[in-house]
Amino acid sequence: MHLDYCPILIDEFDGQTREFSLKRYNRILTMLLSGSSLSDILSALVLLIEKEKLGTRASVLVLSDDRRHLLLGAAPNLPQAYNDAIHGVEIGLGVGSCGEAAFSGQRVIVDDISTHPNWVNYKGIALAHKLLACWSEPIKGSNGDVLGTFAMYYENINAPSDTDLILIQEAARLASLAIERSKSFQFQRQTTAIFNNLPIALVTTSAQWSILDANDAFWGAMATKGSRCDVGYFNPNEQIGCDTNNQHMIHALMANGHWQGEALIKRFDGSSFYADLTAMRLNESYSDNRAYAWLISDISARKQASDLIEYQANFDALTQLPNRTQLLGLINQHIDARHGFALMLMDVDNFKQVNDTLGHGVGDRLLVEIGKRLLSIADDRFTVARLGGDEFAILIPDVLSIDQLNEVSQRIDNLAATRYQLSGSTNVYSTLSLGIARYPDDAESLELILNCADQAMYVAKRSGKNRSQLFNFAIRERDSRAAKIHAWLQTAIELNEFELYYQPIINLQTGKIVHAEALLRWCHGGQFISPQEFIPVAEASGLILGIGEWVRKQAITFLHEYRDYPFTIAINVSVEEIWSHLLQEGLIASIEKTAAAIDCNFPYERLTIEITESLLMGNQDTLIDELTKLKAKGCRIAIDDFGTGYSSLAYLNQFPIDELKIDKSFVLGCEYSVKQQALIKAIAKMSQALELVVVAEGIENSTQLEIINSVGIDLGQGYLFSKPIPKAQFVDLLRKKELFWR
Ligand code: C2E
Ligand code: CA
Ligand code: CA
Repeated sequence: MHLDYCPILIDEFDGQTREFSLKRYNRILTMLLSGSSLSDILSALVLLIEKEKLGTRASVLVLSDDRRHLLLGAAPNLPQAYNDAIHGVEIGLGVGSCGEAAFSGQRVIVDDISTHPNWVNYKGIALAHKLLACWSEPIKGSNGDVLGTFAMYYENINAPSDTDLILIQEAARLASLAIERSKSFQFQRQTTAIFNNLPIALVTTSAQWSILDANDAFWGAMATKGSRCDVGYFNPNEQIGCDTNNQHMIHALMANGHWQGEALIKRFDGSSFYADLTAMRLNESYSDNRAYAWLISDISARKQASDLIEYQANFDALTQLPNRTQLLGLINQHIDARHGFALMLMDVDNFKQVNDTLGHGVGDRLLVEIGKRLLSIADDRFTVARLGGDEFAILIPDVLSIDQLNEVSQRIDNLAATRYQLSGSTNVYSTLSLGIARYPDDAESLELILNCADQAMYVAKRSGKNRSQLFNFAIRERDSRAAKIHAWLQTAIELNEFELYYQPIINLQTGKIVHAEALLRWCHGGQFISPQEFIPVAEASGLILGIGEWVRKQAITFLHEYRDYPFTIAINVSVEEIWSHLLQEGLIASIEKTAAAIDCNFPYERLTIEITESLLMGNQDTLIDELTKLKAKGCRIAIDDFGTGYSSLAYLNQFPIDELKIDKSFVLGCEYSVKQQALIKAIAKMSQALELVVVAEGIENSTQLEIINSVGIDLGQGYLFSKPIPKAQFVDLLRKKELFWR
């Protein structure tokens, strides 16, 4: 007999039995509704049946999730050992009463366990506990699937009456109700718990926007404390901010049944936050009423972070001005639209000096103030940007006449008229060098426009700073000459175009050559190109590294070849070279490599390194280390062009220096200038006090020599003695032991 699901059997009972039956239903339903646990309900059911039919010991077994085993549901009056033995039994035909009932879905009545074939393997334990009959009814769910078994045991051989059969059937029905309901209640409880503990605000509303249900997160997100009870609606027309077009959103929700996106949500107190909003229409199948579910997840923190990231990507943190990225983006927009503009690039003159002498804090404040002043003179439509370091730019989104541009740059020049007052008593005088380029007149691409403005700025700096320079034809020429030199330089070593000349340096006491400065000569295509022209190009392009190595190799070879002659050599080393050596293996390693290639043990004491003052600005520990190591090897360190740079006395003390070379601009024309003479004298005195050897450069005539000599300067160099000459000629001079003085 297949049992279709029919919950009502009560009518099949007679009077008193019927009353019992109603009581059972009542009890079990009450327990279900009050949320009792399944095992409590099943135990109660077993006890109710046992109470009605005395002599019965009942059990409920539940089918495992894999649907292959029976597990103990409730059997409070069966012996523990028996229950233990049954728990987990695999179902199948011939497996006792319950195993077969669960397997076949059919009722199995065994009135005598001792003889029934189903119990052959199990009767031992049953009989041991005096169980002699067992009737088992499959418990079936609403879809007909077996959920377990309800069994009644007896201590005597016993067959069921019709009423017994109805009873066991009803018991199975009630057990089914309990198992199914408690599962669905459990699911509901879980969903409710999830709903309430969800970190996302969830609210359901009616079509008139009154709140049907809302979780704690919703009240937490929407209301300030205490206002929870006051609000009974969630109206998208009011609660969803104006910057998402809420009419559009509501329309989409009505039309499609859902909407998803970012929205500004207004709290009940009027404040607001950004959220990811999912809105859904809920249709209850049994009614026309529509409800809506709103899932609101606060993203204001993420939004803030992404706003910040966007800000940081486009603005300079120090000055709050647009940064390079933003400026380049704007320039590109103008170029794409073929819309004319002017670009002003600015560099703070001597900014490094401010930073090094007054500290980075003051340097930063100066940059902020410069930014403010630039903004104050800029028209609204100008973009004032900081490109990084001490570089600023102004983008003028118009084609201005030269007069108009001059007027703007005059305003910028005037900025420097008043000192910058930076915290307390620190006042800084600071100027800007300005380069201007125009689109499309000067160039047609972003890169070239930047390059033109940069070139113009470079010219402004070179011609004395604190001025502006409009990009022009001459600059283009100079630029293209530099480009040519750069191209030619690449192959100069390979093509053997370099030669190292030597300029004698004379001991002014004895008149003897004691020293020589190695100076590079370059003959390209039959023409000499001055180091003044090509060295800066080599420095800017990094080619100076290869050239420097070549120079050192020549000088070392020369010293090695003429090791028996008493002279030393000075080589010029660019700032760029020193820094890149410091970053790599170091200058010593590089010298040693060259010496090893020539197979000589290099006599460092015969080498002087000439460096310029600009290298020494700031407190550079690695540089001091490297120079100290060089000096420890015996190498001498000279400061070249002394007096033209920053001439800070502090570094003379800080760095391991042996020698000062007074720049030739002091010597040139010193016979006519008392001031120059005074300076020469002062440098000489100071150097003597610091025990530094002094070399005077650029001595061209004997009057100058006399002046130099009169202040006790040790060494002299200049056309008066000799121009820089090829190696062979220099060796000739050495051999002749010519005296240049006395
Ligand atoms: P510097 O180191 O100051 O070199 C001295 C410059 O003064 C040389 O110019 C030399 O020819 C010139 N000079 C010497 N005596 C007199 C004089 O009596 N009157 C005048 N008016 N000038 C005199 P040069 O050879 O044209 O070199 C220019 C600069 O190029 C050098 O200035 C140096 O900074 C750089 N340089 C030359 N060779 C090298 C090199 O091998 N490596 C590096 N890094 N720089 C070099
Ligand atoms: Ca030099
Ligand atoms: Ca010099």
